[in-house]
Amino acid sequence: MSNSTKYVFVTGGVTSSLGKGIISASLAKLLQARGYSTTIQKLDPYINIDPGTLNPYEHGECFVTDDGAETDLDLGHYERFLNVPTSQANNITTGRIYQAVIEKERRGDYLGKTVQVIPHITDEIKDRIQLLAHDGKFDIIITEIGGTVGDIESLPYVEAVRQMLWEHENDCIVVHLTLVPYLSAAGELKTKPTQHSVKQMMELGVQPDILCCRTEHELDLTLRRKIAKFCNVSMNAVIEAKDAESIYDVPLLMQAEELDKVVLEKLGLPKKASPNLSDWKTFLEKLKHPTSEVSIGLIGKYVELKDSYKSISEAFIHAGVANETKVNLKWIHSEALTKQNIESELNGLDGILVAPGFGTRGISGKIEAVQYARLNNVPFFGICLGMQCAVIEFARNVLGMEDAHTTEISEETNYPVISMMEEQKRISNFGGTMRLGAYKCQLKPKAKTTNAYGTENISERHRHRYEFNNQYLQQFEKAGMMATGKNPETGLVEVIEIPNHPWFVGVQFHPEYKSTVAKPHPLFVAFVHAAIKHKIKD
Ligand code: GLN
Repeated sequence: MSNSTKYVFVTGGVTSSLGKGIISASLAKLLQARGYSTTIQKLDPYINIDPGTLNPYEHGECFVTDDGAETDLDLGHYERFLNVPTSQANNITTGRIYQAVIEKERRGDYLGKTVQVIPHITDEIKDRIQLLAHDGKFDIIITEIGGTVGDIESLPYVEAVRQMLWEHENDCIVVHLTLVPYLSAAGELKTKPTQHSVKQMMELGVQPDILCCRTEHELDLTLRRKIAKFCNVSMNAVIEAKDAESIYDVPLLMQAEELDKVVLEKLGLPKKASPNLSDWKTFLEKLKHPTSEVSIGLIGKYVELKDSYKSISEAFIHAGVANETKVNLKWIHSEALTKQNIESELNGLDGILVAPGFGTRGISGKIEAVQYARLNNVPFFGICLGMQCAVIEFARNVLGMEDAHTTEISEETNYPVISMMEEQKRISNFGGTMRLGAYKCQLKPKAKTTNAYGTENISERHRHRYEFNNQYLQQFEKAGMMATGKNPETGLVEVIEIPNHPWFVGVQFHPEYKSTVAKPHPLFVAFVHAAIKHKIKD
């Protein structure tokens, strides 16, 4: 362990969904604003190697980093709050830990010893936690332990924390997030679940240093005193985490509770300057006082679970603020869209976004939505599968290629306008065939995309198997759909546009992963701007 690196472990008790990710990101933001270089790591106690193979209905969106890691959506929050990229090292699952340990066992690294949860699994966990400290880039590493204390799955993680607290007493603290429920029949907030949750931690050998108490009502002094007394924490370490209007309010709420100060005190670090959050406050001010509003349809097949499109909906919040406009997202199920109802379903929208996705379900509705946007001059933004749908729609309805399709869905199509690259076909292991992570893209001068970015050289993150089939490019361009962005090394089409349309852009990459509070994504900003123009014109 590097001498200078400090560790904050964030655990959760009582129930899941308390918002550990947002509390961790908010704390990191405050420490960053005080001048500490901070990163956040998420440990997920499930046995999947990564969330890449998970259905979005399970844990929401799969977030992708520059280095091509498929990760938990909390990493998206970390990036949006901190404006610092994360990497593979920031998300670890039980599957990955066990995989590493088993590989070492097979190589003979354990020299004939019996391989056990303690010490081998816990050592692997500790190594992964400390990996982020190796290059000395970070002063503080916040490690969020997924799940709820007491779950069987999280036991090895809590044990690893216990060992780290013992081995590096002065460099580690534990922030425990708990629930203080309001019982309306009694008209009271109840501290007992918190007491029990701390007791459970103590049975595992871990005494939390700070308690963040999720609550719907104010925690008064009497309650704070009670929690402090029963749970062995100082009064100033009982932090109220009240429900907030927006996740972007939480850093300021945590600042008011002095969470950052208490953390620094307990870590023995100087407080340095008080956090400069003026840009953050300006963002919030604009978020809460928009001067106009637009209505944008998000066409997807996982719309029942909004977390499936987390980065897209957050990117719209950032882009809305950049345009001082409230973006009202209308979540539209692509499976419910047909030729017959498309007009009535999409009528009145100022912009249409067709979402990423995999597989057959809902694709015909997505293609209908593209056609509606193209024919009615409604600003259109297609992301990944959304871009592929735009290509298929254009092939069928403009180029007359009747059964044009992606080979992901129809191997037999006469017009495979979206297909798999030869070199990808050769990689057979499921979960290993995707184009993942950051790739360069060269944009054409004067394209709408280029104007939005203000540069011709960009880099964006990918997560897909199929590509625009360059065999058809000439025909598309002749008919008015242009490839305005290409990978400079492979010539793969990354961006398509219809210049003869107010705003029609499809991107093979995922711009939403790179939108942050400090840097709203230029394409989302331009799309919202086009939606505003469309609304005014109407
Ligand atoms: N299913 C498509 C592909 O694999 C698109 C993936 C996506 O939208 N992320 O190419």
